[in-house]
Amino acid sequence: MSARLIDGTAIAATLRADVARRAAASTARGTPPGLAVIRVGDNPASQVYVRNKAKACRDNGIRSLLEEYPARLTEADLLARVRAFNAEPAVHGILVQLPLPAHIDAHKVIATISPAKDVDGFHVANAGALMVGEPGFKPCTPYGCMKLLEAIGCDPRGKDAVVIGRSNIVGKPMAMLLLHASATVTVCHSVTADLGAQTRRADIVVAAVGKRNTLTAQMVKPGAVVIDVGMNRNAAGKLCGDVDFDAVREVAGWITPVPGGVGPMTITMLLVNTVEAAERSIHSNP
Ligand code: NAP
Repeated sequence: MSARLIDGTAIAATLRADVARRAAASTARGTPPGLAVIRVGDNPASQVYVRNKAKACRDNGIRSLLEEYPARLTEADLLARVRAFNAEPAVHGILVQLPLPAHIDAHKVIATISPAKDVDGFHVANAGALMVGEPGFKPCTPYGCMKLLEAIGCDPRGKDAVVIGRSNIVGKPMAMLLLHASATVTVCHSVTADLGAQTRRADIVVAAVGKRNTLTAQMVKPGAVVIDVGMNRNAAGKLCGDVDFDAVREVAGWITPVPGGVGPMTITMLLVNTVEAAERSIHSNP
């Protein structure tokens, strides 16, 4: 039997409608939510991402300020722009699009963003808050994956979950969110001895690797929920995930398509975090 599709586009649309409502309420209280986006260099994918983010903001009542700089921008100048946005009350969220040119230390840049405006959830203060279960900003992609599970009525509590990938922006926070939701979590990576042995006993598999066909049908337990974070190109140049979609959908219970699964959720959760940042600023300066 074919798995049911997890329609990230539809789930994102529902969440965006709520963002638009909250943004309008915040604006009515004199605080229009504002997101500053900084892009450096000429990575074509980054150009598309930041413009999509700016458009999603506009479409949902969030002000966006997009600053684009040539690759020669110095680290000091970039840090100065971040500090200026930290001090700007009309800006509630700051996003520096990664990757940055090699001469700029991304860790230093992220560390300079005020944790209260770190709507990407990458600052160590927010990573630490996630670790200990305190309020902060959750990284958008894993946060979006949790919303997908919620939308299909999949409660991770008591389930075996396997996360493939251990990056700071997807794999590790994903594992932490699933753990907070009381799943029994296994994190796999490139050195995992037998990936299939791990994934075959999982009720929930999240693949965040960046290599197509990492998860094949033989590696999936019948009925499992499969979330595909990967964004790759196949031989024909078509966008695909880490999961062998056509074969895995015959085994899994639920599966995200690529595109149209996790992708629309990532930008949506950025909007959610930005509106949340604006609301927090109202509550701290009533
Ligand atoms: P990353 O930093 O490159 O991390 C990839 C992880 O996969 C690493 O932990 C690596 O293990 C692991 N890995 C590599 N080969 C493996 C293998 N054969 N078996 C098991 N694990 C393996 O990538 P990322 O930033 O987390 O992103 C992962 C994918 O998600 C990429 O395709 C990216 O484009 C996509 N992505 C999509 C969205 C979205 O909105 N849809 C957002 C963010 C990222 P080691 O740690 O041992 O090297």
